[in-house]
Amino acid sequence: MASFWQNLLWHHGHFLGISWSVWKLLGWGGNLTFSSRFIVQWYATEKSRQVVVPVLFWWLSLLGSLLLLIYAFSKTDSVFIYAYLFPWVPYVRNLIIHYRHQKAHMDCPGCGEKIPPHANFCPQCGARAELAPQNIPK
Ligand SMILES: [Zn+2]
Repeated sequence: MASFWQNLLWHHGHFLGISWSVWKLLGWGGNLTFSSRFIVQWYATEKSRQVVVPVLFWWLSLLGSLLLLIYAFSKTDSVFIYAYLFPWVPYVRNLIIHYRHQKAHMDCPGCGEKIPPHANFCPQCGARAELAPQNIPK
């Protein structure tokens, strides 16, 4: 049994059988970052019992794809470069929309909880939402 694990971890004279370099570390870092976003999204969905895409999902998508793009450029592989050249656009756009929406929330004058934009009453305590100066439509 020890020989099975030893063979799995140390294969052909390399850890995991991979010929490690700085580029391999960067590429595997990108792989692990990019694939960890699925665990984050799955956990958030199971926790709230509805489909949820947490903001961490978009940060992991952006960072993972950026690392994989750098790795792809180091390999000068056009297929791999193209695969990670444009996905950052929706990741960044989703982050901008998320933070813009978060900023538009108001603080409840009753309980202090965040009130969604355009809500007239606090969903927590029912207090009437007062428009902060930056939220008053012009
Ligand atoms: Zn409230």
